[in-house]
Amino acid sequence: MRAFTYEPQKSRVIFGSGTITNIDTEAERLGVKRLLVLATPEQADQAGQVAQQAEKRVVGMFAGATMHTPTDVTEKAMTSLKQHDADGILAIGGGSTIGLGKAISVRAGLPHIAVPTSYAGSEMTPILGETADGKKLTRRDPSILPATVIYDVDLTLSLPWSMTVTSAMNAMAHAVEALYAEDRNPVVETLAERGIRAFGTSLRVLKSAPDDPDARSDAFFGAWACGTCLGQVSMALHHKLCHVLGGTFDLPHAATHTVILPHVTAFNGRDGQLAAVNHALGGTKPGQALFDLATDLGAPLGLAELGLSQGDIARAADVAMESPYWNPRPFDQSDITGILNAALHGERPVG
Ligand code: NAD
Repeated sequence: MRAFTYEPQKSRVIFGSGTITNIDTEAERLGVKRLLVLATPEQADQAGQVAQQAEKRVVGMFAGATMHTPTDVTEKAMTSLKQHDADGILAIGGGSTIGLGKAISVRAGLPHIAVPTSYAGSEMTPILGETADGKKLTRRDPSILPATVIYDVDLTLSLPWSMTVTSAMNAMAHAVEALYAEDRNPVVETLAERGIRAFGTSLRVLKSAPDDPDARSDAFFGAWACGTCLGQVSMALHHKLCHVLGGTFDLPHAATHTVILPHVTAFNGRDGQLAAVNHALGGTKPGQALFDLATDLGAPLGLAELGLSQGDIARAADVAMESPYWNPRPFDQSDITGILNAALHGERPVG
């Protein structure tokens, strides 16, 4: 008998094409009369157009979302929320914008409608990472989850190719680690394999036809599936290493996940626990399958091209070993150094 615990999340999810037309009715369902729109400066125009779907309720926009949810930006957004007397939040964008939406909604106790435009998956998780004084603090609480998530595949057509690839690899990393998570369950395992498969097939189509609606839809489905995995179970070595590389060396989030994933997958997949990755992507070695996919898609392959130097490896390994955490395969400092060295110059992993 295999024992497990499964607790479904409470977010309402609407998925499809043209689904932004639901924003107004979703706000009505939640009893929201005055929406504050959140966006990055780069997506302010796109968010403004999307928000017209609920124009009678929209009272203002804060277009200052940025990576890593710095608390000083959140404070400014809170001031804007109060100035506009808003009673609900509409976050339109990638993981950074949705992170800001979570930070505000949990502080103010207001409903959050998330409209994701990338594959990062934050909208499906009760996880909030915030930075203050150069430190990132992450917490997990059901109240952090958005009330409604509206996936409109049309909004992903503008996602640049480089971000399409790295954001998708970031999402697949959630699913890969869910497959061996200490607290995994059969629902999550099924979603993880389906999510990886959806990306594996859609990305190869999108490479030559980035606007293909069916492939974009499959990829966004993958984002939902992989994000749901991240929201349900705990992560391990891969996420820890990416957290260290982002937090200590300021490496870019999604690209770092892209480079590290094949190497940690090869390390952790040796006992056959990651056969689902082979089923989803083809091949017999899960780390190599992910590496070959990344290579085909023109993704960054080495940490060196993201700004890490050979001299940084020892410090990264030290920081990664500072506090213990669970991983399916026991490891020591030399294992971490080996993974980082292989990832530095983008070597094809052996596993
Ligand atoms: P991002 O949100 O920082 O977006 C990067 C850039 O792409 C921004 O300029 C954004 O405006 C732009 N962009 C996004 N979608 C676009 C589109 N469709 N068209 C054009 N431009 C678009 O990047 P991300 O990879 O989506 O998110 C990364 C952040 O999310 C990190 O800070 C990470 O920590 C966080 N994250 C959190 C969780 C969680 O569960 N808490 C999960 C995954 C990621």
